[in-house]
Formats: sequence, C-alpha cells, structure tokens
Amino acid sequence: MRTPLIAGNWKMNGSADLVEAFGRAFAEAELPDGLEVAIFPPFPYLEAARRAFAETPIGLGAQTLNPLHSGAHTGEVSGRMLCEFGVRYALVGHSERRQLYRESDEQVYDRLLAALGVDLIPVLCVGETLEERDAGRTMEVVLRQVGFVMSRLEPQQRSRVVIAYEPVWAIGTGRTATPQQAQEVMAAIRDYQASFDAELASAMRLLYGGSMNAGNAGELLSQPDIDGGLVGGASLKVDDFLAICQSA
Ligand code: PGA
Repeated sequence: MRTPLIAGNWKMNGSADLVEAFGRAFAEAELPDGLEVAIFPPFPYLEAARRAFAETPIGLGAQTLNPLHSGAHTGEVSGRMLCEFGVRYALVGHSERRQLYRESDEQVYDRLLAALGVDLIPVLCVGETLEERDAGRTMEVVLRQVGFVMSRLEPQQRSRVVIAYEPVWAIGTGRTATPQQAQEVMAAIRDYQASFDAELASAMRLLYGGSMNAGNAGELLSQPDIDGGLVGGASLKVDDFLAICQSA
C-alpha cells in the first residue's frame, strides 16, 4: 500500500555525461510496477537532468534548499527556484549537512517547512553516529531528530514527509546496517509516528540509506518497515542503480 521510492543522492558528484547515461538507460529500463525513482544531482545539472529524464520515470530531487524565497544569500538556492526546474523532492538534514555545514535541528526544520511551502516532497534524513550507537543511544538520537521536526508540523504536513534513516557510520563506508538493525530503528520511527496518528504512521514512507548496493538492497527492501532506499555511491553507476531499482 506504500509506494516504494528509490532515491539516488549524487552528492557533489556526477557530470553532464552521467546525466545523459541515466536518461538513456532509464528510458528503456523495465522497472517494477508502481516504483517511484528519483535522482538528486548537484544544482548545475538540474536543467540537463530535466531534459534527459523527460521520457523516463525518474523524478528530480534537490540535495538542499534555503528556507527563504530570495534575498542576499550568496551561494544559496530557494525552493521556489527548484520548482521552476521541475524538482519534486528535497533532501533535508542529510548527515553531511548536519556535520560539515553545522545544520541544527532548527535549520533542518526551517528547510523542511520551506520545502512543504512550495509543494516539494521533503526527505528528512536522520541517523546516529557510531559513538552514539556504541553508547546505546541510537533510538534516543534518531527519535529526537524525527520528533523535533514532526512534532511541529500539522497533520496534513506530516503526511507529505518521507523519512530516510541513515546511520552515519554506514554512509560511504561500505559498512551497511544489517537488515535487522535497520528494521529495528525504522519500526521505532513508525511507532513514534503512530503516537500522533496511527493511520498516518502506516502510510508514511521510510527509506534506508547507508552503503546500499545491488547486492544488499533486496534483503534490506524486504523488511516490513523499509519502503525504499536513499542511495549514495551506488547511484553513480547506472547498472548498480538500475539493479537496486529492480530489486525493489
Ligand atoms: P552511501 O550514501 O550510499 O554512499 O553510503 C548514502 C547517503 O549519504 O545518502
């Protein structure tokens, strides 16, 4: 009943050639019925991607957005601008933004609200560090990140949010959470949502991210609370990303 979503986060990677290669491969690819696919390229490739993906099922996503519509904010991009380029999704709170750019829970919330305000689908990223996991604080950290944002939203806003659980220690490390580890945290996120609204919780889409690849995607995606993936490194290779989509 939940539409699966496989999202490729290119981070600060990719090229105009890669955009073209994805366009060609996905125009011909056989994908599971009802699967939603999205690619989040760097900003400069959005227009080329819009054209290259026009005849494919790939939706466009942005890796971040500024909470304001416009203004004196050198280097920033607003949600309204993204919408002009056919963008449908926006990542907020990716651990690299939280860690490298010091984005706080408040800033993550502001960005998510801005995404909702222009009708983008926000993908809220949450996850614990290795230190936090080793200290037995995984649930506390993840539910705090989820709760900070979700508790401030109206019910109709909450229903549009996708949550990506990405253990920080699994991102770009080749060390994937086991399907059981991922399922445990994702079931807790869904239970937490159910404390607001059980119906909304069962409809909410939860993605796993962190070294997902063509080899481990099938088992991860077969877990009851995992509705898709947020894929970094493996989304930079057409064949790998296609194989992940096909295992959804
Ligand atoms: P990874 O990245 O698949 O390379 O671990 C996932 C992410 O950061 O979204």
